[in-house]
Amino acid sequence: MSRINVMQPYLGDEEIAAVAAAITSGWVAQGPRVAEFETSFAAKQEAGYAVAVSSCTSALHLALIAAGVGNGDDVVLPSFSFIATANAAVYVGARPVFADVDIATGNVTAATIEAALTPATRAVIVVDQGGVPVDLDPIRALCDPREIVVVEDAACGSGSTYKGRPVGAGAEVAAWSFHPRKIITTGEGGMITTSREEWATRVRRLREHAMSLSAADRHANTLAAAEQYLEVGYNFRMTDLQAAVGVVQLGRLDELVARRREIAAGYAKAIDEIPGLRIVADPEWGTTNYQSCWVEVTEEYPHDRDGLLVALAEADISARRGIMAAHREPAYAGRDTGDASLSVTEYLTDHTLILPVFHQMSESEQSRVIDVLRQT
Ligand SMILES: *Cc1c(COP(=O)(O)O)cnc(C)c1O
Repeated sequence: MSRINVMQPYLGDEEIAAVAAAITSGWVAQGPRVAEFETSFAAKQEAGYAVAVSSCTSALHLALIAAGVGNGDDVVLPSFSFIATANAAVYVGARPVFADVDIATGNVTAATIEAALTPATRAVIVVDQGGVPVDLDPIRALCDPREIVVVEDAACGSGSTYKGRPVGAGAEVAAWSFHPRKIITTGEGGMITTSREEWATRVRRLREHAMSLSAADRHANTLAAAEQYLEVGYNFRMTDLQAAVGVVQLGRLDELVARRREIAAGYAKAIDEIPGLRIVADPEWGTTNYQSCWVEVTEEYPHDRDGLLVALAEADISARRGIMAAHREPAYAGRDTGDASLSVTEYLTDHTLILPVFHQMSESEQSRVIDVLRQT
């Protein structure tokens, strides 16, 4: 019996060939392949502009800078998210204020955000948690008149849809991840998409030490013009080696999502007949890519969540605890992060787990997982 992982990236000969071509070209840092990946990504996500960076964490950081968020500002965001969502607010000197989430989707809603708003709220970060599209329109209807910028953390969202369009398409600014736990991967990597040209220009500069000329521009001229450093920037660049992989992965996106949804449908069919388990499903406004195929373990089930995780581990199946709650981590426990109730966040964090879903997963592997869910 071999180990079943919770996630495995799907990389093949095309990715190997693309990296080999980048190496052979002699240009391995940010260059033509990053530009190509950005153009393809913007087209695929129906975004105005796309700027590649080193991770989604750096994408969120730059998105908040572009949105003008800084010292003394509050950023309302879910505690129910990977810790990078909250960290981004701290990086720019703002205070993260935690909002609760909806039990069905694991996402913030206009109501949970409204409950957390403060007079100092300058931005809100919404998350397409685990790939489930956030219901963005009511949140923008709440925030836009108050001049609060809505940043979409679409780290998990490639290939999910909202009202018939890719998630992020309706956002002023969105941040994406290409970590191997996400839908498509470049090893590490991220992207900022935005509808605002001036924000795209600013983050494009900031990712590269805020140089007035990019390294690629300077390379194009034997006698390069002298660059200027227009503000204090960062080195958040993606490499052409990564972008070469990204271009191929993006071409696989539809196929990867279709396969994940097929595997999730197989779980859903079985779980519908197991009392006490609920599997996350498409909300009425969109479709999830099942980046995280999470299951709620209710009191009706013979074991609690941790008991089920142990049973899975004993069958050599690596499931995972559900999405974390940042407010419970030592990094945030001592901070003032607002006083909205986080009861749903705490419930979901304690009662959910993530099932294995990966492109190469075989029917027999999935049956092994389902057998444990049934027998436990
Ligand atoms: C993974 C993840 C991030 C961080 O992405 P990196 O590319 O690893 O920096 C941020 N937000 C959410 C919701 C995530 O799931």
